[in-house]
Amino acid sequence: MAIRNQAEIISIGTEIMMGEITDTNAGYLATQLHLLGVEAGRVTVSGDDRMQLIDIFRQALARTDLIISTGGLGPTDDDLTRECLAEALVEELTINAGLEQELRAIFARMHRDMPLNNLRQAMLIPSGRSIPNPRGTAPGWWVEKDGKIIVILPGPPREMHPMWLNDVKPELQRQFAGKIVLTRTIKVYGLGEAKVNEMIASFFKPANPTLGIYAKPDGIHLRLIARGNDARRLIETTGKQITNILTANVWGYDEDTLPGVIGKLMTEKKLKLAVFDDGTRGVISTLLSQAENAKMFFKGGLLAPDNNVKTTLGVPSETISDYGTISSQVAEKMAGVVKEKFATDIGLSITGMGGLDEDKTADGECFIGLADARGEISFSQRLLPHRDNMRNLAAIAALFRLRQLLLET
Ligand code: ATP
Repeated sequence: MAIRNQAEIISIGTEIMMGEITDTNAGYLATQLHLLGVEAGRVTVSGDDRMQLIDIFRQALARTDLIISTGGLGPTDDDLTRECLAEALVEELTINAGLEQELRAIFARMHRDMPLNNLRQAMLIPSGRSIPNPRGTAPGWWVEKDGKIIVILPGPPREMHPMWLNDVKPELQRQFAGKIVLTRTIKVYGLGEAKVNEMIASFFKPANPTLGIYAKPDGIHLRLIARGNDARRLIETTGKQITNILTANVWGYDEDTLPGVIGKLMTEKKLKLAVFDDGTRGVISTLLSQAENAKMFFKGGLLAPDNNVKTTLGVPSETISDYGTISSQVAEKMAGVVKEKFATDIGLSITGMGGLDEDKTADGECFIGLADARGEISFSQRLLPHRDNMRNLAAIAALFRLRQLLLET
């Protein structure tokens, strides 16, 4: 089976429309679909409104071959998903004897009478089969009609997730078997989203492979999705072409992480690193510790926002008084000091964003220092001030400077 266009997700419930609950189902399903190589092309939220929901199903059926909805499968009159889908597909809803029996058994186990209203949860249409719900009374439906698949699932995530994992996902995987779907993510740093878009604009046009662009803390991620028996060749050729355009700005692929990439370079080159941090409150060291082989190259770090501590450790007090703590000169000295104290090949430092002193965060400037056998260098890095994740972004910027140095070493 191949999905024409992208899959659509429909989140059903007036509570979502009113902001009373947050729609986490759509995000969950979009991520899960992505893992299957299927792109979610549209997410729609519908209230518990008959006409609106029929209309949404009809429109989605006209656009795509895979629809997944959550919500509206309860026993009450405002649970309309089953009847609206039946109406959109022009099929008749009838009570399924097997489902009714199962439902009655659930109530019998709870020593409760089954309200008549619950019978609606035993309804089915001719082109549908039920999806068992081990954690609730509402089964889902798997519907196949005219080459389309429509899956309806209950709203509560604790019910929906196991139904997806146990039933829907394996069935979709089975249906996609033979139709190869491959994805590749190309990770880029040092270029803005718009610039990357401009440089590779022509690659967004083809329908196979498709290309998506996403801004992430560690740069821009480009995701290629290729389908069909030629998928491997398509993804490799296109991936290479894109890499050739973006050249050194490409720092990794697929599951690569920045700490992992740095760890690999450091161990390949048999180098050791130490960090002097007055800016990210330890985020640089935390990130480095995530590298699989961190112990092999990361000897340790200093976190010292206090200038007295800096001078005690060896940063000249005149450098601080002449240029200020947040300066390239101090960053360079810090890198040199930590390299010496920890007896490493490379010292990495950062000073800026006030460290623990919020007043100095105003212009968002920080300085990154690097020291190796050749001497010390520094870089100025400007970040949008007062952003919650500034420290994280500054740490990532510092690690990219380190990567650059490693590539040149
Ligand atoms: P039930 O059988 O429990 O009535 P249902 O399929 O009818 O299930 P809804 O009535 O739409 O589902 O939602 C029931 C509850 O599930 C909501 O109150 C909410 O807590 C949760 N829920 C529903 N939709 C979502 C969603 N899109 N994201 C997160 N939680 C949701």
